[in-house]
Amino acid sequence: MQFDAELLLLAMAPVFLACIGWEAWHLHRTRPEAGIYSWRDTLCNAALALLQQAADKLAWLAIIPVYAFFYDHYRLLKWQAGWVSLVVLFVAQDFLYYVFHRCSHRVRWLWAAHVVHHSSERMNFSTAFRQSLMYPVAGMWLFWTPLAVLGFPPKQIVAIVLINLGFQFFVHTQLFGSMRWLGYVFNTPSMHRVHHARNDRYIDRNYAGVLSVWDRLFGSYVDEDPVDPPRYGIVEPLYTYNPLKATFHEWGSMFADAARVSGWRNKARALFAPPAWAAAYHARMAGMNDAAGHSREDAIVFPTSREEREIL
Ligand SMILES: [Zn+2]
Ligand SMILES: [Zn+2]
Repeated sequence: MQFDAELLLLAMAPVFLACIGWEAWHLHRTRPEAGIYSWRDTLCNAALALLQQAADKLAWLAIIPVYAFFYDHYRLLKWQAGWVSLVVLFVAQDFLYYVFHRCSHRVRWLWAAHVVHHSSERMNFSTAFRQSLMYPVAGMWLFWTPLAVLGFPPKQIVAIVLINLGFQFFVHTQLFGSMRWLGYVFNTPSMHRVHHARNDRYIDRNYAGVLSVWDRLFGSYVDEDPVDPPRYGIVEPLYTYNPLKATFHEWGSMFADAARVSGWRNKARALFAPPAWAAAYHARMAGMNDAAGHSREDAIVFPTSREEREIL
């Protein structure tokens, strides 16, 4: 029987569900007042996972031939099957995941898909299920194309992408402390709690997939500080448990902003600037509307640099 790599996460579903059931039961017994689980939140997360799995299965049909094209015509290396090639594939994909994830927080077009993963204000194993069916549209698959050029066959690329995501399920929990020694090499629950927090000092930090070394190398690492516990969620909160609203709200907001602003530079910023641009724009719009009683869009000065955004 041939193993179908695209179904790897579905095959692991019993393990994931057992962890969620155990964590919810354990927290109900030990910290019932903490409200770490809610039925509505967890059901929304599960619906998002199913939608994403269905979309992904379809998307791979279109994407695998693209990887095959690069593998057949442009591959630079030829690997002997064995541990060396598997380790290189794993490290290279994990690095590309870091790049993808960092871009997803700094480019609104990619954030429009990734925001789904961050819009819950809870943090538990089921939060890992919050994925977007729009990832293939946003272009996540493009980030793995270099692996085909490096000489890895499409099925191996799909498998390693899903193994990386499967590992990340286990860092979505509040049950474990700092795991300091493990954290020198691997992403840990403590590091990923920081990543899901909207406290100023934690925003845009700890992008790791499996290996934490990329954050340390590229200056995006920060420790979880017990005196500043993470507040989960996004800067502009989304008050819904509707999985379709959670999936499409940022796309709607992004295209509405692009249509509303004048000039091609501002339209490009609405689509591709960091999400902080949109938050600053929305805050200024709200301020303008409140003060004047009607919209004064023409009076808005758009933030163009990090410094300008920070003083807004
Ligand atoms: Zn993220
Ligand atoms: Zn996460």
